[in-house]
Amino acid sequence: MDKILIIGACGQLGTELTLKLREIKGKDNVIASDILDEPIALLSDGPYEKLNIMNKESFQIILEKYDIKQAYHLAAVLSAKGEQNPHFAWQLNMESLLTVLEAGKNQLDKIYWPSSIAVFGPDTPKENTPQNTIMGPNTVYGISKLAGERWCEYYHKQYGVDVRSLRYPGLIGYKALPGGGTTDYAVDIFHKAIAGENYECFLSEKTSLPMMYMDDAVKATIDLMETDQQNVKVRSSYNLAAMSFTPAEIAKEIQKHYPDFEISYNPDFRQKIADSWPGSIDDSVARNNWGWQHSFGLKELTEVMINNLRKEIVFD
Ligand code: NAD
Repeated sequence: MDKILIIGACGQLGTELTLKLREIKGKDNVIASDILDEPIALLSDGPYEKLNIMNKESFQIILEKYDIKQAYHLAAVLSAKGEQNPHFAWQLNMESLLTVLEAGKNQLDKIYWPSSIAVFGPDTPKENTPQNTIMGPNTVYGISKLAGERWCEYYHKQYGVDVRSLRYPGLIGYKALPGGGTTDYAVDIFHKAIAGENYECFLSEKTSLPMMYMDDAVKATIDLMETDQQNVKVRSSYNLAAMSFTPAEIAKEIQKHYPDFEISYNPDFRQKIADSWPGSIDDSVARNNWGWQHSFGLKELTEVMINNLRKEIVFD
């Protein structure tokens, strides 16, 4: 069994992806790594390495120690945090990707690296945004993801590196908290509702954004990594979609479970970021190339988030 390294394993996506890969591949075959000294509790039953991915030597030592064959590189500065420290975001997001891609030349058989709907910008067609279209991102995060997509395709074409990528929409899950993105409200809102509190949203009522439940995102990621090379026809990054909703729509869905729950709106700097992104995504290329299908819409998402967060609160 190939040994797999997850870089940025303790984050919102990494936590759930590591858990799922350990379930499928066996926990000793999936090495979690993150800049944190210790793994988060959910990941403490398998191998863990403290790794700052900016340190190339440390990365190399871990690759050799475990004879790693596949890497999932998830560490990044996200959209909202990136605007607060643009140079650092560019440095981390770009340099770390190039380090991992270089290892793809002779050491790694397969690499996964996530892109984002942030690669699109204000001039992109807003609804059913196609796979190939005007891009023009205007956040440092989006610029770094678009440049990263070009590097992935370049390393594939020039050096035959088997790197695969998805443009995730906003990801929503209950196991880990989000790390500073523009769609974080769609996780925070559930925590407030379950605590019996109202929610003040940092985006406006009518801001429609593409979103996805974490199980679907994890499934898409593993499906793409497991499919035959010949099915992977896009080597920049695939559009990926499940649902789109506004803050008002998700609040309405939550009110079906918590009738007294109320939402108010106080848009901040993240509104401008959200306004530059698509409202919905055409992911037919992913569906046609490697059979992508989502399972969760807004109704199912709301039920699963509420049921699981409720359980966590009871156990706490
Ligand atoms: P996150 O911020 O929750 O997690 C990132 C993890 O990387 C954290 O655990 C952090 O400690 C770690 N990290 C930071 N700097 C590091 C370093 N120098 N070395 C090693 N680890 C480091 O992010 P996430 O939401 O899990 O996102 C994972 C990936 O998916 C990112 O590339 C992100 O751009 C992409 N993505 C996420 C979303 C989303 O909604 N969450 C949407 C689109 C794309």
